[in-house]
Amino acid sequence: MSVKVFDTKEVQDLLKAAANVGSHSGDVRSKEITHRLLSDLFKAIEDLDMTPDEIWAGVTYFNKLGKDGEAALLAAGLGLEKYLDIRMDAADLESDIHGGTPRTIEGPLYVAGAPARNSVSRIDINPDEDARPLVIRGTVTGPDDKPVEGAVVECWHANSKGFYSHFDPTGAQSEFNLRGAVKTGADGKYEFRTLMPVGYGCPPHGATQQLLDALARHGNRPAHVHFFVTSAKNRKLTTQINIEGDPLIWDDFAYATREELVPHVIEKTGGIALGLKADAYKEIEFNIELTPLVDGKDNQIVRRPRASATA
Ligand code: FE
Repeated sequence: MSVKVFDTKEVQDLLKAAANVGSHSGDVRSKEITHRLLSDLFKAIEDLDMTPDEIWAGVTYFNKLGKDGEAALLAAGLGLEKYLDIRMDAADLESDIHGGTPRTIEGPLYVAGAPARNSVSRIDINPDEDARPLVIRGTVTGPDDKPVEGAVVECWHANSKGFYSHFDPTGAQSEFNLRGAVKTGADGKYEFRTLMPVGYGCPPHGATQQLLDALARHGNRPAHVHFFVTSAKNRKLTTQINIEGDPLIWDDFAYATREELVPHVIEKTGGIALGLKADAYKEIEFNIELTPLVDGKDNQIVRRPRASATA
C-alpha cells in the first residue's frame, strides 16, 4: 500500500480535532505537543507504510511498558534522557556557562529521603559477601574554585547483584542500603564508605529488553554510582561516575558515560580503622565543581516525579 492521505483535509482536520486545536479550553501546551507528536506519528505511518499489525503491536507494547513500570528505563535506553543532557549542555554554552563537573543522566532509581550525615557517611547497611569495600571521597567546589560549605552530596548505587535498594526484586536489601547523603563542612569535603557496585542489565523479560532484542542491542550498564549535588548558591548537579576498568564503560545502553566521569580506582589499606569490613579497600577520589546560578536561579533543574521514603 502506498497511498498518500496525510496531507488531505480529512486527515489534517482529524489531527486538529484529536488535539482539540482551535478550542479556547484546555491546556495550550498540551494541545500543541499532542498535535505535533500525533502529526509526526501519522506522517511516519504513511512514509514507512506501517501496517495495522505493526500499529497494534506498538499499542500492545505501550500497555506492557506501563504494566512493567519501565517507561523511564526505556527513555534512558533509547537515548531520550541523553538527548535532554545534550540540549542542556548546548544551552549552557549559549549562556556562557563553562566548566563544572559534567552532568549525566539521572536514571529511574533515585529515592529521596536518605539519611543525611555531616562530611562522612557509611551507607552499606546490609552485608554483601561478594562486594569489597569502597570509599568515594572528594571536595565540592564552586565556580570560584573555593570549597562549598553546606553542599549536600547524595549518592546511590547497586549492590554486587546489580540491584538497588527499594527496587530489589530479591527483597534482600533494607531501605536506603547503598544510598546516602552527606553535608559538606567549611572544607567542602564529602566521603561515602560503601561497597563496590557492579553493572546491571534491564529486567530480562521486561518491555525495554524486548525492544532492545528486536534492535539487536544489549541492555547493560557498566558499574556506576549516581550523584546529586545540591547547594543554595550553585546549580544542582546530576551526574554519575563509572567504575574504572569496567568493560562496558564505552558501551553503556543508557549512554551515560563521559570521559571526565571515570575517576581512577586506587588500592588502599587501613580500612579497618575506617570501620570498613576489610583492611584492603578501593578508593575513588571524585572532586565536584558546581556551576553558577543564572540570574539567581537554577535554570536546569529537572522536576520529574521521583520515589521517596523516610529513613
Ligand atoms: Fe544506576
